[in-house]
Amino acid sequence: MMAALRDRMKGLASFSRGVHPPHRKSYSEAEPIRLLVPEQDLAIPLAQHIGSACTPTVKPKTEVAYGEKLADAEAFVSAPIHASVSGTTGQPTMMALPSGRRVPGIPLRLSKERAPLPEGFLEDFLRRDWDSVEPTRYDPDQIVMSVREAGVVGLGGATFPTHVKLRRNPHRPIDTVILNGCECEPYLTADHRLMVECPEAIAVGLALAAHALGAPRAVVAIEENKPDAIDAMRKAIRGRVGLEVKVCATKYPMGGERQLIPAVLNRAVPSAPKGLPLDVSVVVVNVATAHGIARAVVHGKPLTHRVVSVTGGGVTRPGNWLIPVGTSFAEVIERCCAGMTPAALKVLAGGPMMGPTISDLRIPIVKGTGGITVMTEAETSRRAESPCIRCGRCIDNCPLYLSPAKIAQAVKFRDFEMAKRYDHMACCECGCCSYVCPAHIPVAQYIRAGKNQWWIIQAQKKQEDKKAG
Ligand code: SF4
Ligand code: SF4
Repeated sequence: MMAALRDRMKGLASFSRGVHPPHRKSYSEAEPIRLLVPEQDLAIPLAQHIGSACTPTVKPKTEVAYGEKLADAEAFVSAPIHASVSGTTGQPTMMALPSGRRVPGIPLRLSKERAPLPEGFLEDFLRRDWDSVEPTRYDPDQIVMSVREAGVVGLGGATFPTHVKLRRNPHRPIDTVILNGCECEPYLTADHRLMVECPEAIAVGLALAAHALGAPRAVVAIEENKPDAIDAMRKAIRGRVGLEVKVCATKYPMGGERQLIPAVLNRAVPSAPKGLPLDVSVVVVNVATAHGIARAVVHGKPLTHRVVSVTGGGVTRPGNWLIPVGTSFAEVIERCCAGMTPAALKVLAGGPMMGPTISDLRIPIVKGTGGITVMTEAETSRRAESPCIRCGRCIDNCPLYLSPAKIAQAVKFRDFEMAKRYDHMACCECGCCSYVCPAHIPVAQYIRAGKNQWWIIQAQKKQEDKKAG
């Protein structure tokens, strides 16, 4: 509480609780975005978003050009998938996502005749000639349609289809769109680099989102540890009505919607899973999402690539890379970073606070992958779990005011009703509780396992009820 007050007295947006893990962003924050042109075949999952999986729109053994639609779904909460390189489609098969979930997917064999990507792809992605684009000239419905057709999803990790977020609802008007440029997860620098290298496109994407929603105000929120990104975004929004930059304290998890909205606007979002930013008239979009919106609406480009930080003490040459969706983690680590160092211990999809550990490097990069962190023994705190000493640190640091120790205990004893009573579904899995625990209890992991188990139990109950008629 006191820390938040101190931040606010310094003029920084802040929230109560949370933690200050070491940033470790210096590995890659100064590295410009480079393009990886894959040399190995790709695997394109057909569910890279929250919502229904897509069905293939092309048959196996079909030659497809870069950007051609590979799969789509009729469901509203869904987003089409496009070819991230030119190639030949294979037989649909099941494949694993970085989260561990198995989904249907299409193998994509690189074309022998055609170049994988159009010439000048990186230059086009990083183009800076956006000054003449006037977002209010676009029809709001057309913005939503273009974003849907391009397969844009929330790239901050949630992968919620963006066109659903941008559709106006007369019963729930939006007055502010926040651009989440915090990138509070340690190690990761992909959003930071995008703001430094493509600030004009991001500003246009944000203005388009605000226009689609009829929101008069749009706030670019950036943590104070990214001064070059703050400067770049301030310049990029100059002259664009309704857009402003708000500097936030460097604190984890500032980028969580339930921390960012109170910090920037002083509005509390009702508890998850039912409460949404929409309930306080706010929509939050990530930096890479805004960039995707601008490319989709103004130039009709599909979302086929991600800027990914490949970083950590466990890679030889950390950097930020523009990578086609479907490229394997193995190829990325080998070709972008000259492989792992002998000290490499574990590979994470994302950063150390929230990223799941990857045990099979054949897993593909998906739309939601913002980083690969390869950590060394020295960077991890692998210590044996000991019994809870009831110190209360997990409670004091939980940004959502939950009782992590009690939820974890309930999950350990498989008392999922009790875990629910402690509101385990509201947990955003930020990992602050695990980070501060002196007994090295992986509190957040227990809670995540409890949530998964809860969904399984609910699905089983539904089936049983159905059978019973
Ligand atoms: S209980 Fe959930 S929200 Fe609270 S600190 Fe732990 S992981 Fe974060
Ligand atoms: S921080 Fe760890 S030891 Fe302390 S109360 Fe929470 S779970 Fe127990």
